[in-house]
Amino acid sequence: MQQEIQLQLSPKDAADAATIQTELARHLAVQPKKITGFQILKKSIDARKQDVKINLKLKAFVDEPFQESHAPVFNFPDVHRSAHRTIIIGAGPAGLFAALELILHGIKPIILERGKNVRERRRDLAILNREGVLNEESNYCFGEGGAGTYSDGKLYTRSNKRGSVDKILQLLVQFGADPSILYTAHPHIGTNKLPGIIASMRDQIIGSGGEVHFNEKLTDFHIEKNSIKKVKTASGATFEADQIILATGHSAKDIFYLLDEKNILIEPKPFALGVRIEHPQKLIDSIQYHCPVWQERDNYLPSASYQLVDQVNNRGVFSFCMCPGGIIATASTSQEMLVVNGWSPSKRNNPFANSGMVVQVEMGDVMKETRDKKQGTRGNLVLHDFQEMVERKAFASGGGAFIAPAQRMTDFIKGKISSSLPETSYVRGVHSVDINQLLPEFISKTLREGFKSFGKKMKGYLTEEAIIVAPESRTSSPVRIPRDQERLHHPQITNLYPCGEGAGYAGGIVSAAMDGIKVANAIHATHQ
Ligand SMILES: Cc1cc2nc3c(=O)[nH]c(=O)nc-3n(C[C@H](O)[C@H](O)[C@H](O)COP(=O)(O)OP(=O)(O)OC[C@H]3O[C@@H](n4cnc5c(N)ncnc54)[C@H](O)[C@@H]3O)c2cc1C
Repeated sequence: MQQEIQLQLSPKDAADAATIQTELARHLAVQPKKITGFQILKKSIDARKQDVKINLKLKAFVDEPFQESHAPVFNFPDVHRSAHRTIIIGAGPAGLFAALELILHGIKPIILERGKNVRERRRDLAILNREGVLNEESNYCFGEGGAGTYSDGKLYTRSNKRGSVDKILQLLVQFGADPSILYTAHPHIGTNKLPGIIASMRDQIIGSGGEVHFNEKLTDFHIEKNSIKKVKTASGATFEADQIILATGHSAKDIFYLLDEKNILIEPKPFALGVRIEHPQKLIDSIQYHCPVWQERDNYLPSASYQLVDQVNNRGVFSFCMCPGGIIATASTSQEMLVVNGWSPSKRNNPFANSGMVVQVEMGDVMKETRDKKQGTRGNLVLHDFQEMVERKAFASGGGAFIAPAQRMTDFIKGKISSSLPETSYVRGVHSVDINQLLPEFISKTLREGFKSFGKKMKGYLTEEAIIVAPESRTSSPVRIPRDQERLHHPQITNLYPCGEGAGYAGGIVSAAMDGIKVANAIHATHQ
């Protein structure tokens, strides 16, 4: 007999297979030896009460042989000689998952990626962190695996398309991710593990007959009769294919400029902008797990996380991409523009907890802001230009070399420059400024109110021990590249498929991967 059971156990008991087996037997009123094995179907933390518990949904095998379940394995056909070829610009989650899906349909993908492979990319990150020297083609956003490679690797999505999400998680497991991502409520992979998984995907793509070209930045399209005939790269090479998937991410400014110059329709898209906030991880643990701050959290519990959201005068303010046990990183892609973001290793064992804290930015705000400041705007790029203005100002205020402006959270609320700054994980170093002066007033005001409100929701969150580092400006794309709702190609250029976060159809690793698969399926449909 197989039976599904829900158990609520202490963190220690939930980590011990023998205890789970005993508890299952007790629950089913059978002798423990009758339980031949079990599978975990779902695992989540219930920290609502003082006594933190782990919820487990289990499948117990009673009086019958235990069968271990394995994630399905996808068999990739050989596409070396495929009659159909699709060029994919960008090897982020959208581009890579599109390539895998195309191969499953027998279509040959040709990936052009401006950056380097994951291993070489790591060296450029080390130089950026150590010396403050940015490689504009190889950084936290550009290079194999895209922006998600050196991240926390959170795999949450608000999408309720369970089948598509499961397929992505199963593929990640096939390429080396820990199978626990299939059942944990908030799965994550970690910066140390993601590069190996990405490299395995690339090996599969090449092994099946696809192509992956690094250091090939798309710089031009040759268009004839509403169709792209060739794409040109910075190296001078040209590539031809039936369709082009444009999956270049939210930081590929040159792609937005190229489309705009060629009168290929793009639209401004609301996004969110703010700061990154960092607390001692112990403090977040003590708030979320209800333990004194001087006491370590339960050994069997992971670094605690949080998610905060509020409306201040009808404007959303929310936490974004929280990295428990993480590090704040320089996510800039251009010289003299500062952007911060966060990442965590798989164990999430650094002493700090950081999170983006961002405010909704709408078209009307920016029109007003740029008018007030008498700045020129470029129609479709108006929100992009606004984002860039904040990033330039932040770079200049930090004193160069990606040293970031920072302030104690409590001083930010008072509008006072901090006389000293708490320790931070941000490697390039911080510089004390009043971040209120750096951000447009509608953003800093909303953040101040948001922080006060979050301090009430999470007692202890509003503290002088927290540091804010600015700006968190690349939360999503400030531009949308429109596409036909059903066939997913660009309304003007019928073989161009805007895809993923940069085109405005995704936010995060899983949703970008889902969009890659969706676009690959739309291309497959054109061959039917
Ligand atoms: C530090 C950091 C941490 C993050 N943490 C998380 C997280 O924990 N969980 C999560 O869900 N999301 C996270 N994100 C966001 C996530 O990485 C993105 O949402 C996701 O990667 C978007 O996927 P994409 O494929 O659409 O674009 P991208 O990942 O941005 O990939 C675009 C690719 O296109 C390439 N490219 C750009 N222009 C060109 C060109 N002209 N020619 C050729 N190639 C080009 C780029 O080099 C890049 O590899 C994080 C992002 C960062 C920067």
